[in-house]
Amino acid sequence: MRFDLFFQYACMCARAAFLKLALLQVALLWLALPSLALVVASSASANAAQPASLSRMAEALRYPTVSFQDKTKIDYAQFDAFVAFLERSYPATFANLHVERFSKYSLLLRWPGTNSAATPVLFDAHYDVVPIEPGTLKDWPQPPFAGKVSDGYLWGRGVIDDKLAVIAYFEAIEGLQRNGYRPTRDLYFSIVHDEEIGGEAGAVVLTAALAQRGISFPYMVGEGGAMIEQTPWLGERPMAMIALAEKTYVTFSLHADAEGGHSSMPSADSAIARLATAVTRVHENPLPPRLQSPIIEMLDVLGAEVGGVQGWMMRNLWLGRPFVLNALGDIPANNAMVRSTAALTMFDAGVKENVIPQRASAKINMRLLPGFSVEDAVAAIKKIIDDERISISTDSWGQSPPVAPMDGEGYARISRAIQEVFPEALVVPGLLVASTDTRHYQRICPSIYRFRPFQLPMGDTARIHSTGERLATASVVKSVELMSALIKSAGAP
Ligand SMILES: [Zn+2]
Repeated sequence: MRFDLFFQYACMCARAAFLKLALLQVALLWLALPSLALVVASSASANAAQPASLSRMAEALRYPTVSFQDKTKIDYAQFDAFVAFLERSYPATFANLHVERFSKYSLLLRWPGTNSAATPVLFDAHYDVVPIEPGTLKDWPQPPFAGKVSDGYLWGRGVIDDKLAVIAYFEAIEGLQRNGYRPTRDLYFSIVHDEEIGGEAGAVVLTAALAQRGISFPYMVGEGGAMIEQTPWLGERPMAMIALAEKTYVTFSLHADAEGGHSSMPSADSAIARLATAVTRVHENPLPPRLQSPIIEMLDVLGAEVGGVQGWMMRNLWLGRPFVLNALGDIPANNAMVRSTAALTMFDAGVKENVIPQRASAKINMRLLPGFSVEDAVAAIKKIIDDERISISTDSWGQSPPVAPMDGEGYARISRAIQEVFPEALVVPGLLVASTDTRHYQRICPSIYRFRPFQLPMGDTARIHSTGERLATASVVKSVELMSALIKSAGAP
């Protein structure tokens, strides 16, 4: 998952007024995964499982299953070793579930239900992780691939995104089998190895195989939501964020061509000047804000909790819309929730100081709100640029899935599981402003929900894809209980 807006979020928190802060925090939530450090709790089963599950979680982190954009750099021996570790650690799961491999390293597990006629449910997670940025290794309090427990945390790359979700699935499945549980409907688990580099060998291939077999799912659960406590509006009450949608990722390439030539004889037309005008227009003319689903649903649920005038405004957008939008103001992280954003990211022209270039190129990275298509974005950008001599091409990761219904089966089942384990939690719908593998699954699943059973303090969300990724050990252990509840809730139609 891409969390590149996190730092903005964190930086902006201090400036935000209460509502701004509240909404900002919500944005953080989508981006990230849940968390609280210490939770109430306590079940006997969790206590019993604690040491063993925690040590297996730690061991999982010791395999550097790192995805590099340049695939020649990927050490696939680590991926093999990780899968062997899974087979070794979860023998009942590999013995009793149907396990298939795709593209060598991605797994599809099917847990047969007692009623094969019932529609199945899909759970997804990825075990590849992003690299450690060169020069930052020394800043890790614990090494990223040592699987160390220290100061009440389990440290390591992938602890939040998303390797421990894989282990939580296996821990839950193994434990449920030990307790004699068997689902009524078939449950599928896709454990993929290349989400961080696009999912072409994992989710894409696996989805194609399922589609070919005529298998589809009324809902699925992927990464992107979580549980958070100590939010400004809920205080100590945990907030469980289920993301109903995510943004669409698309990059625009702009080109301007001109005659070029010797710099001693410049002509009126300049590729650089023309392209600079075009990108400046994009920069200075953001697309209009839209308060739409699932932000409307989120404001409604939160508004009921916040109460007072602010809460009323959040729930009555026919009047509160301008106030809410104003509260979001010009804070980048908040803009991301209500706007399709356009960021100028690359500009390239010229090879020598005395040569007028014949071509100038620029890239604009856009993140589109649900329901706003790449075609819509092209039309909007062309209109803003208003210069037919600028050629435009796009490279999209593909349209993200539609907003999943809040009144659908999946939301109800996930909510039920959360409330069972965390009865005090407030379940809130949200939007993930990053992008995940879920776009690949939409052809076999109309309703995609994003939720992880992890709890992490707000500040720790900045560690995702960054330095010092960690999760409180209490949350690591508790996650198995919540994952078990999620599976059981799905398994009994
Ligand atoms: Zn991820």
